[in-house]
Amino acid sequence: MVAISCARPGCPNRAVAWLTYDYGARQVWLHDRPEPAGDQWGLCQGHAGRLRVPKGWSELDRRGAESDTPAAPVRPGSNPATKLAG
Ligand SMILES: [Zn+2]
Repeated sequence: MVAISCARPGCPNRAVAWLTYDYGARQVWLHDRPEPAGDQWGLCQGHAGRLRVPKGWSELDRRGAESDTPAAPVRPGSNPATKLAG
């Protein structure tokens, strides 16, 4: 994966968290990984930790919760790594 810099102006650090938002719901999420689509901002560790959401908005930190959840069940006897080799 290509390293993405923190979206904060002047910050040279590498992004380790991804912020997505929904204006209508006034909701902000933090993720471990970039989302496949949609507006998002990469934030470094420091800026993600100091994130302030606007008044009236709520923040949901999903980091950690996502990494333990496989996207799809792995069938017994099939090794996903072998598919990458071909
Ligand atoms: Zn930063």
